[in-house]
Amino acid sequence: MAYDVIIIGAGPAGASAALFTSKAGKKTLVIDNDQSVTKRAWVENHYGVEEITGPNLVEIGKKQATKFGTEFVQGKATALTSTDAGYQITTENGTYEGTHIILATGLSTELAEAAGIQTKPGTEPRIKTVIDADAQGQSSLKGVWAAGTIAGVSMHTIITAGDGAKVAINVISELNGARYVDHDVLKS
Ligand SMILES: Cc1cc2nc3c(=O)[nH]c(=O)nc-3n(C[C@H](O)[C@H](O)[C@H](O)COP(=O)(O)OP(=O)(O)OC[C@H]3O[C@@H](n4cnc5c(N)ncnc54)[C@H](O)[C@@H]3O)c2cc1C
Repeated sequence: MAYDVIIIGAGPAGASAALFTSKAGKKTLVIDNDQSVTKRAWVENHYGVEEITGPNLVEIGKKQATKFGTEFVQGKATALTSTDAGYQITTENGTYEGTHIILATGLSTELAEAAGIQTKPGTEPRIKTVIDADAQGQSSLKGVWAAGTIAGVSMHTIITAGDGAKVAINVISELNGARYVDHDVLKS
């Protein structure tokens, strides 16, 4: 069965997007090949978190998304092709179909470029190329979105995670046909 959303990359951008889409009840798959640069970080500037190791941040992010039903597959996504219902992602171990795709591939533009998605020069330090996405995160292929470092945002965990959330909310809103908000209320 096809996924509502397939996310490539389980760093802050991808896992944050997955947390939102799965919590919204959207069938979500994350494909990741464990190359997150965040795993080399020591973080003291993420609002609400006094200090955390990069590996812990990534693991907690995946755990949060799993809690709401996100499925994870380990492996490299090697191709993105369009189908009647959306898109097919090919990995080393199988193929997966989804209505919406969120590319959260960090420093890697390989998959986007192989799929013919429009890119542009990056503006952040050491970022050569990013996906040419609009303000909503929509790429030149309708239904394929970009979030985090690959979308050209400032390379900080709170920003890439926030960008993943932003793009997820836009995807959920498009699937629902109405703007989406996810507010839990403090239990008294
Ligand atoms: C040494 C170091 C220290 C840092 N310190 C800080 C800090 O103190 N504070 C701070 O805010 N930020 C820090 N950062 C930056 C921070 O880690 C990044 O800005 C941010 O987390 C990147 O998030 P992302 O999700 O965009 O990318 P990533 O975390 O890199 O995640 C991208 C994911 O996509 C996956 N992927 C890519 N291509 C494919 C594919 N084809 N198939 C499957 N999976 C794929 C990768 O395996 C990876 O898991 C630091 C970075 C480094 C390197």
